[in-house]
Amino acid sequence: MNRTKYLILGAGPAGLSLAHTLLAKGEQDIVILEKENEAGGLCRSKEVDGSALDIGGGHFLDVRRPAVNEFLFRFMPEEEWDRYERDSKIHIDGQMISHPLEANIWQMDIESQLKYLMSVSRAGCVTGTPVPEAFVDWIRWKLGDEIADKYMIPYNMKMFGEDLNELGTYWLNKLPDVSFEDVLRSCLEHKAHAKQPGHASFYYPKKYGYGELWRRMAGALGDKLISGAEVSSLDLDGKKAGTTAGELYEAECIITTIPWTCLKEIKGLPDDLKQDIGKLKHTGVVISYCPDTLDTGAHWIYEPDPDKTYHRILVRHNFCPGSRGYWKETRRERFVDEGTYSYLNEYAYPLNTIDKPSVMKKLIGVCTGKNVYPLGRWGEHEHYNSDAVVERAISLGNDLADKNA
Ligand SMILES: Cc1cc2nc3c(=O)[nH]c(=O)nc-3n(C[C@H](O)[C@H](O)[C@H](O)COP(=O)(O)OP(=O)(O)OC[C@H]3O[C@@H](n4cnc5c(N)ncnc54)[C@H](O)[C@@H]3O)c2cc1C
Repeated sequence: MNRTKYLILGAGPAGLSLAHTLLAKGEQDIVILEKENEAGGLCRSKEVDGSALDIGGGHFLDVRRPAVNEFLFRFMPEEEWDRYERDSKIHIDGQMISHPLEANIWQMDIESQLKYLMSVSRAGCVTGTPVPEAFVDWIRWKLGDEIADKYMIPYNMKMFGEDLNELGTYWLNKLPDVSFEDVLRSCLEHKAHAKQPGHASFYYPKKYGYGELWRRMAGALGDKLISGAEVSSLDLDGKKAGTTAGELYEAECIITTIPWTCLKEIKGLPDDLKQDIGKLKHTGVVISYCPDTLDTGAHWIYEPDPDKTYHRILVRHNFCPGSRGYWKETRRERFVDEGTYSYLNEYAYPLNTIDKPSVMKKLIGVCTGKNVYPLGRWGEHEHYNSDAVVERAISLGNDLADKNA
């Protein structure tokens, strides 16, 4: 039996940031268990065709959380990053239109502008019909049939799966809020009128990929980080975690950042909650490399066309100096192997299914009552970006260190 004060499951951004926050508060008795042979989770990079490729998809550090950036720059100073103003496009009706679509219809040809404008003017939220409950109806209600049929519905199906109505609508407030007046005004004035989406400005490392940051954070943990240790069981009352290799760890406090559904055995939860965990869904995404140089200045391009397998292209040569080529993101069920470098992320997107909020509320409530803290994209089963995860890890780490001092 291995004993420690803090046991952290998973060494992605959540686990790494939590460990470093505890260390900065003077806590030393920490063990972090990681399944893979290297840390970084979805934010890892590999060298492919002479330059960095982010194997968990396109990863950019948002500038909107300065305290988070300051924390991360301790491991990779700001001088080692380039700062970009986002240039992302949607490939639609044979045209490349800036994201978000509803704010940039003015970039389309006149016939398309008319078609999309008329459709937005008939959207339920403009005409005042009640807010629908089903996901697909909600999209039509919010954006009109044209944007729904040509972009939002096919794109979301490519990313999340064929049955969109198993998703709830509670998370759609993330979509940029654009009114018909904004759309009309943007067409008349030839510029976007809307709240900007995430990553309007972002950092990307000058050399290396995004993974270099987390590699350095992991290196600074020394032997507190145990890699190649896949956790398969969790005992909430005994505060123990077991690995597939048969190692057992006991702690005063456990922080779990790994997917709930990958645990083969969980002790200390009511039976109905154990069954509810089985309802948590996720998708897998394959990243695949193409060596061609594209004739575009965009950093990334969304592809809603159902006939194309992938849903997004990351134009590496536009954000990774000295590189060529691009990589594609494809939901695992749609992926067709073309014989180039590819990497499957089994756990990529936690799905916002209808009953997820109630399951997670109950689960997090029971766990925290037993000094076990779910954290991050998988611990909380939330669609967080890495900066949000780091912010939450810093906050939890400070709270735990103060509480257990
Ligand atoms: C396609 C895509 C694009 C994205 N783009 C961006 C972006 O541009 N900017 C951004 O900030 N964020 C982006 N994100 C989100 C970002 O990847 C996550 O916010 C971040 O990785 C979450 O960190 P985490 O530590 O919570 O989870 P993860 O990164 O998933 O880390 C979890 C860790 O737990 C380990 N683990 C899993 N199971 C076990 C087990 N049984 N035992 C031990 N260890 C285990 C994993 O190997 C991993 O290291 C993107 C995500 C995807 C999928």
